[in-house]
Amino acid sequence: MKILAVGAHLDDIEIACGGTLAKAVENGHEVKVLIMSKSGYTNKEGNVQRSDEIAVQEGTNALHALGITDIEILDFPTKDIPWRSDVVNAIDVCIDKYDPDIIFTHHPFDTHQAHAGVSNATIAAARRRNTVFFYEPISPSGRSYVAFKPQLYVDISQTIDKKVASLREHKSEYHKFGGEDWVEGVHARCSFRGYEIGKKYAEAFEVLRIEMEFGKKFNL
Ligand SMILES: [Zn+2]
Repeated sequence: MKILAVGAHLDDIEIACGGTLAKAVENGHEVKVLIMSKSGYTNKEGNVQRSDEIAVQEGTNALHALGITDIEILDFPTKDIPWRSDVVNAIDVCIDKYDPDIIFTHHPFDTHQAHAGVSNATIAAARRRNTVFFYEPISPSGRSYVAFKPQLYVDISQTIDKKVASLREHKSEYHKFGGEDWVEGVHARCSFRGYEIGKKYAEAFEVLRIEMEFGKKFNL
């Protein structure tokens, strides 16, 4: 299978579906990641909190820790990636070229405006694609007033260590997010989702659309 994961920022994919993608790679599937921004940002006073160079370097290292090497990073503004035709077009081009069987993207009710924008733009760009999943809103930035309803689970017990290792590659984000408390929070959600399906660790997704093919089975 060919799997495409679309994220607004370097770190979103790792937090939300890193274990699933690492498992897909381990099991011989093709994985591509499309990141919509170089992900550097400033604070309210305009001081640089994370440069584009550092974000790209740390994010690349983090995706490598998951075994992902097909990484495309676009240059939309980190905090402003709206549901707009140029964003849809950019994702469209990637989908046409890569021709994925499965697409993962943000949850449309994620509270981060760039996450929601990328989600809606991906929904538009994937209008002719039959299997699209939303990963969980990204904690700590993406809490939502709309409940996430897990519908698809992936057992990531075999790749939880890679997922945690990838989070630690985001060295400049680690302290901002709370250090080991952040890692533990992400880890605990995988533990909780795993418990729900009788496994040690899992990641959960909502289904936008799924094509069932007889004689085939989703078997990452
Ligand atoms: Zn993000």
